[in-house]
Amino acid sequence: MTQNVLILPGDGIGPEITAEAVKVLNKLVETDGLDICMEEDLVGGAAYDVHGVPLADATMDKAQAADAVLLGAVGGYKWESLDISVRPEKGLLRLRKEMGLFANLRPAFLYPQLASASTLKPEIVAGLDILIVRELTGGIYFGQPRGIRILENGERQGFNTYVYSESEVKRIAHVAFQAAMKRNKKLTSVDKANVLEVTEMWREVVNEVAKEYPEVEVKHMYVDNAAMQLVLNPKQFDVMVTGNMFGDILSDEASMLTGSIGMLASASLDANNKGMYEPSHGSAPDIASQNKANPLATILSAAMMLRYSLGREDLAIKIEEAVGKVLDQGLRTGDIWSEGCTRVTCSEMGDAVVAAL
Ligand code: NAD
Repeated sequence: MTQNVLILPGDGIGPEITAEAVKVLNKLVETDGLDICMEEDLVGGAAYDVHGVPLADATMDKAQAADAVLLGAVGGYKWESLDISVRPEKGLLRLRKEMGLFANLRPAFLYPQLASASTLKPEIVAGLDILIVRELTGGIYFGQPRGIRILENGERQGFNTYVYSESEVKRIAHVAFQAAMKRNKKLTSVDKANVLEVTEMWREVVNEVAKEYPEVEVKHMYVDNAAMQLVLNPKQFDVMVTGNMFGDILSDEASMLTGSIGMLASASLDANNKGMYEPSHGSAPDIASQNKANPLATILSAAMMLRYSLGREDLAIKIEEAVGKVLDQGLRTGDIWSEGCTRVTCSEMGDAVVAAL
């Protein structure tokens, strides 16, 4: 049965990088029996310019009806002074919230050809392949009550609430265990159970869920130690699972181990593996419309879409291998270029991946 994919290019480099991912998907439609129908719509500043809101209701409806959404990036100088309620980022937040995307998957995978792009020694990062599973819709970023109040002595006090219910922990733990089952069957759950009761419960629930996955080796690690271990010996990790705030910080740290933000994909999934796929980077307005951006993070996000939402692991692997071949050929966009390599444009990189397929 034909599956529907909504393409939301967005702003800045968004249209350039998604066009390359669409090229790659179209190639698989032609040659590998991929049965998808792609439709494009507006999000972010581009939607605001047309509709006065960063995500029109009709677009939201299309996202709900689609089997998966592939998004470029949103935001840019032009929309920075808008009221916060209609800023481009609000379009993304609405999509995440209304689609119920509670699980954020961010691989930190380093193609061996790019080992020298990392700030860490190549022997520490070569072969790095971590998947960070971050809870996306709960924890301290959403807990109530929150605010800034005036105390009796006139001093201001800021406060937030770090809260997780058992069911929220259970569902993200299942996502992480299932991902670990597809990989090297090692899961590290990151918490601060020595100080925070909420994460003491997190640890207990992860241990309960672990009983359903006896093949997965589970470790628990305090977040401060996890931050340290990520730079000391990152290859010890396979899948990491953690709450919203710790995941926010650790996934950025892990992504930088790989040296280039232009290579990093991400997926945000709901309870039925329907998801939104996007590169980890932003809209890079500084290089927009110059055909300079690296489209590989978006192309690799399309690969994740095939793996997690469209049931085509075979084609996901095919794209990932094609990206490896292109890197073997020495082709590099500016962000990953080094001496001795051939500098290519965004569209040349997309063409090269299509050719490698
Ligand atoms: P950014 O990720 O857009 O850019 C940071 C730096 O990395 C820039 O120098 C940029 O040129 C470079 N870069 C990013 N992606 C690249 C790629 N594919 N190829 C080559 N170079 C790349 O982050 P920023 O500059 O902090 O934010 C720019 C805009 O993006 C802002 O409006 C911000 O709100 C928005 N943003 C959007 C998202 C999203 O859509 N998910 C995420 C982060 C930031």
